Amino acid sequence: MSFPTATIDAGALRHNLAAVRRFAPASKVLAVIKANAYGHGIVPVAHALDSADGFGVARIGEGMALRAGGVTRPIVLLEGVFSTDELQQAATANFELVVHSLAQVEQLEQAGVSHRFDVWLKLNTGMNRLGVTPAEFDEVRRRLQACAAVGRIRLMTHLFGAEEAGGVGTRQQIGDFLAMTAGMNLDRSVANSAGLIAWPEARTEWVRPGLMLYGISPIPGQDADQLGLRPAMTLTTQLIAVRRVTRGEGVGYNAIWRAPKDSLIGIAAIGYGDGYARNVRSGAPVLVDGHPATVAGRVSMDMTAIDVTDVPNAKIGDSVVLWGEGVPADRVATYADTIAYELVCGIAQRVARVWK
Ligand SMILES: *Cc1c(COP(=O)(O)O)cnc(C)c1O
Repeated sequence: MSFPTATIDAGALRHNLAAVRRFAPASKVLAVIKANAYGHGIVPVAHALDSADGFGVARIGEGMALRAGGVTRPIVLLEGVFSTDELQQAATANFELVVHSLAQVEQLEQAGVSHRFDVWLKLNTGMNRLGVTPAEFDEVRRRLQACAAVGRIRLMTHLFGAEEAGGVGTRQQIGDFLAMTAGMNLDRSVANSAGLIAWPEARTEWVRPGLMLYGISPIPGQDADQLGLRPAMTLTTQLIAVRRVTRGEGVGYNAIWRAPKDSLIGIAAIGYGDGYARNVRSGAPVLVDGHPATVAGRVSMDMTAIDVTDVPNAKIGDSVVLWGEGVPADRVATYADTIAYELVCGIAQRVARVWK
């Protein structure tokens, strides 16, 4: 087997979808698989999650890849379309559209398509990225209802900090959205992963989980385990060299790690050229042959040094787990000043993806 390898566990994906349904049993699930399913592989992930009620992607190209890969379930373009050309393609591929701006409403009104799009009208409740304003909301909804190119209308908003425990802003967003959409008898969608876990009132007709489907905790301080999630991606490689260094010797570029005592260093065949981020710091957790060990010094393009002093009988060929089973990606992320989302999305082309 070649290495590094990202092993993707279809059983874990399905297990995590079942976990979503336990949190939000009354909600339909729009499984978010943008950015190549957070680095896991968009088409095979869609097939593994074929019991989801629909799929969310960011760009039309992602939706096209899904249709080309034989995915027939509803697909929602989470940013809608940006030109009449894309609108035409979206009609042909039967995509549902998020409508978040007046420009997109006008596009639909002027569309020369004989297709009726199911649309998700997005209300801005404070993220201030996409979405019509509360002041525009009623007029836009009426225009969509009157538009010949529009079929079913659903309503949505997006939370900006659902992972922050007791976040006042989140409570306000959910409250405002539910109040503004009350009594309209239209399906509503509020929650991403953190929202559907931490905010029961955000479990409306539809939930939109991404990260948790991949078995990663979206909530700081809560383990994936505790939430009943299993990591879908395990990133592994092997040791290609093992060497002794004496106390005080440096390891790797700029010798930013110096041996605090006589030590044993394993060189793992993985680096930032594979998506193991360069800003992962010394001390980041890995497993070597199943034993805990830590990164020592700068990650380079193709290699990373590991302090294997405490690993019994460490040797060339030993397996190294960078994240996944036994090493939660969100823990690694804290050693890289980033979030697990960015780590898994960043897996490079040259890393083999193997399905189990
Ligand atoms: C990416 C995205 C999601 C999924 O968010 P997670 O935090 O990964 O669960 C949900 N809704 C929208 C609009 C998104 O862009």
